[in-house]
Amino acid sequence: MNFSLEHCCLCPRQCGRNRAAGEKGVCGVAGTQVLLGRAALHFWEEPCISGTRGSGAVFFAGCPLHCVYCQNEELSRARVGRAVTQQRLTEIFLELQAQGAHNINLVTPTHYLLQLIPALRAAKEQGLTVPVVYNTGGYERPEALALLRGLVDVYLPDFKYPDREGALRYSAAPDYPQVAAEAIRCMAEQTGPPVFDAQGLLLRGTIIRHLVLPDRTAETMRLLDELHDTYGDGVILSLMSQYTPMPACPCEELRRPVPPEQYERLVRYARRIGISRAYVQQGEAASAGFIPAFDGTGV
Ligand code: SF4
Repeated sequence: MNFSLEHCCLCPRQCGRNRAAGEKGVCGVAGTQVLLGRAALHFWEEPCISGTRGSGAVFFAGCPLHCVYCQNEELSRARVGRAVTQQRLTEIFLELQAQGAHNINLVTPTHYLLQLIPALRAAKEQGLTVPVVYNTGGYERPEALALLRGLVDVYLPDFKYPDREGALRYSAAPDYPQVAAEAIRCMAEQTGPPVFDAQGLLLRGTIIRHLVLPDRTAETMRLLDELHDTYGDGVILSLMSQYTPMPACPCEELRRPVPPEQYERLVRYARRIGISRAYVQQGEAASAGFIPAFDGTGV
C-alpha cells in the first residue's frame, strides 16, 4: 500500500488531510518535517528496555489518540516540539547510540512513519546496531506496520481498552479494541517470541502495556484473559500502576488514583490465570515526576 502526506491515511483515523500542504491531521501535525519534544537517555521504561545505561528515547510530537487522561498533553497535541529534518533524525539516532543507549526508543512515532523509515534506514547504513523499539499507543494500521518489518526489533504497544465504550469515552476511538488487537497480532508475528541478551536486555519481542485505570477491574481482567489465551508466553505483559489523575480531566471517575487494592487484585488475577512473563510496578511509580521535560533536549 502506498501512503502519502498529500492524502494521509497512515493511522486508523484515515483523516485524509493534505499535511504536505499544511493541513493539520487529527494527530495534530501538519507539514513534512518531524517535530520532536526530546531525545535523551531515559530510565523509566521496563528494566529490559532501560537497562543500566538508559534507553535512547525520542519523543515525537502529536498523537492519533486523544486520551482524556493524557499525561503529556502539550506534546501529544503538538503544542511543543522542534522541527527536524530527516537527516537530523538519523544523526540523533546515532548520537544516542554513541551516548551508550541500549536501544533507540521511538515514542509515539506512528504519524511520522514516512519520514522515519528513510531516517532509520540511513542510520543503519551509517552504523546503528542497537535494537529499535517502537513505542506506541497500539492504534496502528497493519498496512503501516508492514513497512517496519526488518527495521523494528521490539514493539512496545499499549492495549488500553478491551471494550468499545471505554475506548470511545476515554480516547474518542470506538474501534480501538479491534484495531489494537489486530495491530498487536501483526507486531507479535513480526518479532516472534522474546529474545534477551546475557544482561537481560530485550533484543527482539513484543511487550504489551496496560495502564490500570480507576474502577475498571472487570475490563482489565477481560483483557488479561484475552491476551493470555491469544499469546501465552509469546509476549511480555507490563501491567502499569502509574496512572496519575489530571485535575482537568473531563471524566469525573478518572479524577482519582487507582487504589492499591485494585492494582494488587489485578496482579493476583494475572498470576492466577497463569501469566508468567509480566512486569508489575511498585506504588511509587504513580508520580508525575516520571514525565521528562519536553524542552528540546538532544534535538
Ligand atoms: S497520521 Fe494524522 S493526518 Fe494521518 S491519518 Fe492519522 S490523524 Fe490523519
